[in-house]
Amino acid sequence: MTLVAAKIIWVLGCVGWYVIRFPHQRRSRRTPVAERRDRVRDIVLMTISFAGLFAIPFTYALTGQPAFAGYPFHPPQAWLGVAVLIGAMALFYRTHRDLGRAWSVTLEIRKEHRMVTHGIYARLRHPMYAAFWLWALSQALLLPNWIAGLSGLVGFGTLFFARVGHEERMMLETFGEEYRAYMARTKRIVPGIY
Ligand code: SAH
Repeated sequence: MTLVAAKIIWVLGCVGWYVIRFPHQRRSRRTPVAERRDRVRDIVLMTISFAGLFAIPFTYALTGQPAFAGYPFHPPQAWLGVAVLIGAMALFYRTHRDLGRAWSVTLEIRKEHRMVTHGIYARLRHPMYAAFWLWALSQALLLPNWIAGLSGLVGFGTLFFARVGHEERMMLETFGEEYRAYMARTKRIVPGIY
């Protein structure tokens, strides 16, 4: 494994992410919305997340900048990054399949929105966000640069911690006792822990 190979694998991860999401994005546009929440706030948070997960590491992959934040490339670290990336993509695929029409990029309730508690959602309330955490971790392992490597964890972490409580409140207000009981038997992103 070389640095160039690690950068190419990072780019392939972005392509894979897009390919998995694309059909859901199309269907999502055709699914009627009953309620939208925190839209402007969500767009600001998504911009921060996009900068950290894509714009900053993409600049690094192309130009090597910011060079001052670079450190030596360690192949075993990059191989670990590949393993984490594969796990992240498998989880991302699975969550999209299980969530189906309930998925939206910003916080929304669909018309005829049904709560999903099957598949991976039987164990975790936010497995798609768990996939994003793993993706950000793979970026940190693949790109030997303190800024471009860690920007994904900082950018997505900002979105996650600012959003997850709002999302759960929206679900509680929509589904009431059903969601409260679901919260009591599941964790957010790490089975048995958090
Ligand atoms: N937080 C989840 C879903 C992300 S998509 C995850 O990480 O897997 C965000 C949208 O999913 C929200 O707008 C909400 O309407 C919907 N949603 C979240 N949890 C859900 C559930 N258990 N059942 C149905 N829809 C859900």
